[in-house]
Amino acid sequence: MIIPLSALQHYAFCPRQCALIHLEQLWEENFLTAQGRLLHERVDSAELEVRKGIRFERSVHVLSEKLGIGGVLDLVECELSTGLLKPVEYKRGKPKPEPFDEIQLCAQALCLEEMRGTVIEEGALWYMQTRHRVSVIFSETLRQKTLTVIHQVRKLLSGNKTPQPEYSKRCKACSLIEVCQPQLLVKDKSKKYVMSLFD
Ligand code: SF4
Repeated sequence: MIIPLSALQHYAFCPRQCALIHLEQLWEENFLTAQGRLLHERVDSAELEVRKGIRFERSVHVLSEKLGIGGVLDLVECELSTGLLKPVEYKRGKPKPEPFDEIQLCAQALCLEEMRGTVIEEGALWYMQTRHRVSVIFSETLRQKTLTVIHQVRKLLSGNKTPQPEYSKRCKACSLIEVCQPQLLVKDKSKKYVMSLFD
């Protein structure tokens, strides 16, 4: 099974959201996801260009056979004098306290390293809301965290079982809140109890 790179970010945000999208094939577009989709379409439509000694490769398809992950990268910058590669991911919002975006970017770097036989030390996230670029160093800690998430996502998706909802602050920004209905389960404690009998 090839895990889409986007599933890692969905999982880091909420394991249930990851299962709803990648196991149950549910997707609800809201204002936030529509904005993100348009941003990526704009980025993806641009052509290959070389500027100031850097080649900009857009919509780069990657696959790591070793890790079983793959997807399409927004942008890879290649420094022509050194051959150094840098994945760059465009994000709709602003930097988050949790490393969701960094994990997705690091997974991109792991794919590129395997495919191009190189070591990638750094990438970047570009945030539309704050209109600035944040450098991300692929430290050993971030690499380990990313490998752990890949492992957890594989376990989740091969287990074929969608986790129960857990209502939290993040639900307000979740495009799947209508189909997930996390508040219902929180309100209805008896349902929780009944479900635990069948777990
Ligand atoms: S609404 Fe909340 S619990 Fe449900 S998928 Fe979204 S983030 Fe997860």
